[in-house]
Amino acid sequence: MFVMFEGLTPEEVKAIEAELAKLPPQQQDSARQRLASMRPEELKAMFKKVGPVCVFCKIAAKEIPARMIYEDADVLAFLDINPANIGHILVTPKRHTEFFTDLRDEEAKKIIVAMKNLANTVVKVVGAEGFNILQSNGKIAGQEVPHVHFHIIPRFSGDGHSFAWSHKKFSDEEFAKIQAEIVKNLTSGKKSAPKAKKKRELEKIKPRIPKY
Ligand SMILES: [Zn+2]
Repeated sequence: MFVMFEGLTPEEVKAIEAELAKLPPQQQDSARQRLASMRPEELKAMFKKVGPVCVFCKIAAKEIPARMIYEDADVLAFLDINPANIGHILVTPKRHTEFFTDLRDEEAKKIIVAMKNLANTVVKVVGAEGFNILQSNGKIAGQEVPHVHFHIIPRFSGDGHSFAWSHKKFSDEEFAKIQAEIVKNLTSGKKSAPKAKKKRELEKIKPRIPKY
């Protein structure tokens, strides 16, 4: 739904849109209409309270500086201020959204294509021997900023980083069950993660520590 916010700067409109994007999709249109019916002074007063707090939204709104690498209508890439290696790039959607699974298909496509070009370029520029693409969702996974972002990390011999994980063991039945559950949910067109009941069912599959 297209709703105009009269009498606001593009930055203020962007900040309001970023706040609206945090709401559940079914609430966004009504919230947008409610805000659009407010007077510009009321909106400006509210904007001061609800201005973006997310650091990546602030970078996208040019409210805080970053070493920009790439920008289009939906995607932003800049140097990580705490790099793992020289040339460490962060790639984000401009729209505030927390998890990879919240991205619109078009945003996801644009980000992946931009990353391909960015990785290709930065590896050549810094003379890396390889690179990692790292993307984390949720605190448990190590996501520090709740705004989708991909790390492109150039890699060098002896750089001291490791993304190794321990291997867990499952039986053939357990592999078959999880395979069937995932395939069933994919082909039934469900886009969201399994609901709590389904999750409890899957929790019965317990990982075992491998024996060597
Ligand atoms: Zn954000």
